[in-house]
Amino acid sequence: MLPKGMCYVVDVNGIAITITHKRVRNVNLRIGSNGDARMSVPLHMSRARAMEVARSHEDWFRTHAARANARRSDGPMLWETGECLNVWGTERKLSVEHTQDVPQCELNGELLVIRVPEGTTPEGRAKFVERWLCEQMRGRLKELVPAFEKRVGVHAASITLRRMKSRWGSCTSSTGRIRLNTALAEQPPKCLEMVLVHELCHLLVANHGPRFKALMDLHCPDWRVWQRLLDEHPPRA
Ligand SMILES: [Zn+2]
Repeated sequence: MLPKGMCYVVDVNGIAITITHKRVRNVNLRIGSNGDARMSVPLHMSRARAMEVARSHEDWFRTHAARANARRSDGPMLWETGECLNVWGTERKLSVEHTQDVPQCELNGELLVIRVPEGTTPEGRAKFVERWLCEQMRGRLKELVPAFEKRVGVHAASITLRRMKSRWGSCTSSTGRIRLNTALAEQPPKCLEMVLVHELCHLLVANHGPRFKALMDLHCPDWRVWQRLLDEHPPRA
């Protein structure tokens, strides 16, 4: 029997399916709010069997992920109670509350509680959540950056966070400056790690050729899975 809550990602022809072994009777298929494919299976099911089941449901995942993506691009977020936002790859429901104190954002179970002064506009709420996502990212980067700089054997002159529409990260190798998309705080943590390693590797190799890929294989062996997940879930508008 596999340990409870064991979780891994399997690649089915380009779909990254997260499989979790849980105390459930049946196999459950699900598409997360950011279009990610998930499957939970009983604890007693072997890993090989679970992967076989995932493969046999490729069409299901493909159709439903496409539908979820279409729904998601319906319109911009209003940052109201009941809307959903992914934080580190986990869906959180927004709960907007009013406060006369300093605005606050905190995770509470499945909720992301946003406390702002009454009358704060949707843009104001968006900015505030964005700042909070930035803080979350900085918190993780505090440990990730020194660890991976050491591993890759480089030093970034600066790491800037900003919201970008089409890129997850970028690197100017001549100056050593790296920029990371704050939208990474909405994806599974491994994605941030992978993009960070990607940009650090660019300090050694400017292009995406075989030398670059070999470095990625060395420092982030499952980078392809996370790359594909990001390719399939572009940053929200
Ligand atoms: Zn690159």
